Amino acid sequence: MKAKNRKVVLIGAGMVGMSFAYQLYSSGLCEELGLIDFFAEKAEGEAMDLNHAGALVPPIKVTSGGYEQCSDADVIVICGGLPQKPGETRLDLVDKNMKVVKEMSDQIVASGFDGVIVIASNPVDVLTNALQKFTGFPKNKIIGSGTTLDTSRFRYMLGEVLDVAPNSVRGYILGEHGDTQFAAWSNVYVYGKQFDKFLASTDKYTAADFEKIEERVMRAAYEVINRKRATYYAIGISLFTIVKAILRDENTELAVSGYCEGHYGVEDLYIGVPAIIGREGVREIVEMDLTSEELAKMKHSADVLKKTLNDAYAALEV
Ligand code: NAD
Repeated sequence: MKAKNRKVVLIGAGMVGMSFAYQLYSSGLCEELGLIDFFAEKAEGEAMDLNHAGALVPPIKVTSGGYEQCSDADVIVICGGLPQKPGETRLDLVDKNMKVVKEMSDQIVASGFDGVIVIASNPVDVLTNALQKFTGFPKNKIIGSGTTLDTSRFRYMLGEVLDVAPNSVRGYILGEHGDTQFAAWSNVYVYGKQFDKFLASTDKYTAADFEKIEERVMRAAYEVINRKRATYYAIGISLFTIVKAILRDENTELAVSGYCEGHYGVEDLYIGVPAIIGREGVREIVEMDLTSEELAKMKHSADVLKKTLNDAYAALEV
């Protein structure tokens, strides 16, 4: 007997969405991929383009159309909305993309979908909170891409300085996927040692070698956008990693925008924290021991997000 096809629906077939879809398409991770875009022809063209490689990848059917595609999907990935323009912060996008998320939420609910939703549209933490409010879905089944990408950038840049592979460096960027994010240095591990102990044990590196990294991570998207107008490959791979963890029930630890109920002192808010991701979405938030200085940074980031969120709800009158 044939098992049920695994199905992913992508809403927003732009640069980020299609970078994700391109990797998903050739991965063999699911048998069906549905595309939805505000411009129906764009989604149709993208589906045609992918399907034309059908003889060369594990069997997968790509469709395009409306929200009826969501009814039997396992995962929805939302990348629709307006992207940052040069000089714009992610929070500048909030009012426009909040309206977009409201429209999407109504249609997702109407489709009868009951799987896990992953959202990358910016400002991602604000929109993750809004998506849960608008859909009313269980909090564990709504996931923002959060600081998955920022954490990868951080590990890549640390690895560059240390001349080791990024996956051999452990550490997290926490908080808002935006200007108030911060590195949890107390939980960075290199060469098997906590970062401060590592620095104390070597004369090859000094703190000065690493002091710019946190700033560079925070500014990374601006640097890419200034050069090529958008960032999409690395977030595409980040989304693929989250969706893989869900579809394969991996229980992998990733820095997503997860719902905090007192974790890290944050109440009733989605924000970038490490979480265990599996079939049901967020299985649990991982609560590392942070220093009081790091907890204060988390509080600041949460306060900024809460204010932005409440202002946006007020503007939308919801
Ligand atoms: P893009 O303009 O290339 O694509 C956006 C797509 O969304 C377009 O095809 C557009 O037609 C579609 N769209 C707009 N409104 C829609 C609606 N109501 N319903 C369905 N589709 C709709 O933009 P992009 O570069 O792909 O960026 C997409 C989003 O991802 C932006 O919000 C951007 O800021 C965000 N982003 C997030 C991260 C992250 O780390 N979370 C990284 C990069 C970009």
